[in-house]
Amino acid sequence: MLTDYHRYFEEIPVCPHCDQELSCCEAPPIHIGDGLGWGSEVLYICLNDDCSLFVNGWAQIEEQYGHSSSYRYMQLPGSKEANLMMVGSEDAFKGSIIDLEKVEAQNVRYQDEKKALAALDSAVETRNLEPVMHLILDEAAAIDGRKRAMSMLVALNDLSCIDPIRNHKFRDTSLESGCNIAIQQLLKANFKKECPYCMELIKSQAKVCMHCKKDL
Ligand SMILES: [Zn+2]
Ligand SMILES: [Zn+2]
Repeated sequence: MLTDYHRYFEEIPVCPHCDQELSCCEAPPIHIGDGLGWGSEVLYICLNDDCSLFVNGWAQIEEQYGHSSSYRYMQLPGSKEANLMMVGSEDAFKGSIIDLEKVEAQNVRYQDEKKALAALDSAVETRNLEPVMHLILDEAAAIDGRKRAMSMLVALNDLSCIDPIRNHKFRDTSLESGCNIAIQQLLKANFKKECPYCMELIKSQAKVCMHCKKDL
């Protein structure tokens, strides 16, 4: 699932305890206190280890509750309300900091996937292999779209699809075997085969490979 985190970076609040910009973190799915969600996918948290709230929190909690924890300052997006999050270690929440550069890269990839999916509708008609290959080779794209793209390989009848597929590492084995079957059909329809030694395309009748000269 892709969330548009962009807007959360437009105005990042500052911690009232240390004047440092808060970190934009993914909200944990469960609010530890009451078992409900936060009502927000993002929390702004002060992760400054020198923040006075955090530094002094250890002694406060030890005294009040007798266990080893401290506080981090937290605000929800769109609210000025101050919240205290109890944390058991310095590292809590640091793993859920949202990386804007990564979010942007994901967005670009997702937009490209959407464009390719839309182009599939006319791909066979316009002999356009590009969106088909884009989806087949995008490991992050949704599997339904990738399989739909795969199902068009034979109709597109373009042998230039073979190399990139052969050179791709598929995580989904059913997609990989589907592509292999499509390639076999394509080769057959074009009276070609792959040389078992050098993998170049040769005539299906060939007794000697014209590329590596090996006997077949
Ligand atoms: Zn702070
Ligand atoms: Zn060969």
